[in-house]
Amino acid sequence: MPIGTESYYQRPDIVKSPEEALALLKEGNQRFAAGQTLRQNVSEEKRNSLVANGQKPLAVIVSCSDSRLPPELIFDQGLGDLFVVRVAGNVLGPLTMGSVEYGVEHLHAPLLVIMGHNHCGAVKASVDGGDAPGSIGAIVARIKPSVDIVRSSGVEGDSIYDHVEDINIKAMVAEVQASPIIQELLHQGSLSIIGAKYCQETGKVTFFE
Ligand SMILES: [Zn+2]
Repeated sequence: MPIGTESYYQRPDIVKSPEEALALLKEGNQRFAAGQTLRQNVSEEKRNSLVANGQKPLAVIVSCSDSRLPPELIFDQGLGDLFVVRVAGNVLGPLTMGSVEYGVEHLHAPLLVIMGHNHCGAVKASVDGGDAPGSIGAIVARIKPSVDIVRSSGVEGDSIYDHVEDINIKAMVAEVQASPIIQELLHQGSLSIIGAKYCQETGKVTFFE
C-alpha cells in the first residue's frame, strides 16, 4: 500500500475557537465509535515539525487513567493535538490543576474537557468504601463529596455509580472554573470548559452541554 502524507489525518494547524475545537473532538469521536478512525501521522518528519514549531493542542483533556479510554484514541487525534492530564477518577489537585492551567494559559488550548466514564473503578471504590491503602485514599477522598451528594439525594442501587460519575465530573468542572487563571481566560472568551462522559460499550462521548 502506498504511503503518502495525503492519507493522514490533518487538523487545522491552529484552532483558536472553543467551538471549532469541540467540533473536531465530536467528529473524531464519531469516527472512533463507528470504527472509522483515520491514519495518524507519527512519522519522524511530523515529530520534528512539532519540535521546531512547538505544540498547539486544540484541547486540554482531564480524564481518568483507566487503560480502556486513551483520549487520543477515542477522539481520533494524533501527536500534538491533545494536552492530556490523566489521573484515576479524573479528580484535580494542585499538580493536576497546574498542568491544566499550563495547557490553557501557556499553550492557549481553547477548550478544556473534564471527562469521566462509566464503570469507573475509582468511583466504585469511593462508593463502596473499604480499604484504600497508601495514596489511593487521596483519590477516594476527592470523590467522596460527590458520593455524599448522591446518597443524600436518595439515589439507591447500582445507579448510584452512574450518578456519582456525573456529579464528580460536574464538581471538577466547578473546580477548574474557580481558578483565577482560568477565570481570566473565560472572561476574555478565549476558553470554554465542558464536562464529558465516555461510554465504554458504545465508544461514544456525551458532552454536558
Ligand atoms: Zn475511571
